[in-house]
Amino acid sequence: MSTSASKPRSIVGGNWKMNTDKSSAFALARAVAQGVSQAHLHSRVDVAVFPPFPYLLPVAEALAAFPGAVMLGAQDCYIADKGAFTGEVSVPMLKDCGVQAVLVGHSERRHVIHEGDDLIEAKVQAVLNAGLTCVLCVGEKLEQRETGQTNTINERQVRNGLKHVSADLLKRVVIAYEPVWAIGTGKTATPADAQSAQHAIRNVLADMFGDQPAAAVRIQYGGSMNAANAASLMAEVDVNGGLIGGASLKPEDFLAIIKAAAH
Ligand code: PEP
Repeated sequence: MSTSASKPRSIVGGNWKMNTDKSSAFALARAVAQGVSQAHLHSRVDVAVFPPFPYLLPVAEALAAFPGAVMLGAQDCYIADKGAFTGEVSVPMLKDCGVQAVLVGHSERRHVIHEGDDLIEAKVQAVLNAGLTCVLCVGEKLEQRETGQTNTINERQVRNGLKHVSADLLKRVVIAYEPVWAIGTGKTATPADAQSAQHAIRNVLADMFGDQPAAAVRIQYGGSMNAANAASLMAEVDVNGGLIGGASLKPEDFLAIIKAAAH
């Protein structure tokens, strides 16, 4: 597939991981939503925050004061709607809390919790079938990059994750390319490396779904993106926003990244 000149609308997500407490989650959500709303950034870029499960409701309340500015996201979900699955949280429960987007296959779920491709694929199904946006995270480990396997790993994770997704459901899929070695390490992929991997991912999508559906998919970069490097990464044609961990916990840094995405 040739590189498209027109970029899809960017999407910036803040993955808070297992950070914040109830009052700081509320305050962070409020500061982000207020900043986005006051600068009308939501007219140019989609923004989502992904708080820990226990804080979804207070964060939803904070976001509701600035309607339409910031989407509520969840960091994970389970594949069944309800039943005997101790400790799990279903997609209907997330929807009930106002969640609009769900991360699936984050590197910490794949490599710390050891979620496999089949479970991740079933989670993609659960999120999309419930009508929510699915942010499918993919990315290679350091030794895989060093042995030239970056595109092979990303291809396998994308093909497997989207195995049963139709072109229609693809409209609610966002891909987050997150090289594992760059997450939380302060080591960021160069814009050229991010573009190269993300262009290859778009080519996989084109092979699976056709050129036009693939061109419309937002592919975020994630991995130590911050206020200083966001603009140069997002200037690349196949980088359509970012998934931000550490820098999303500081409203001024996160807002600077959102502003970079809006320009
Ligand atoms: C992430 O958690 O998805 C992430 C990219 O984290 P960080 O920005 O801290 O590298």
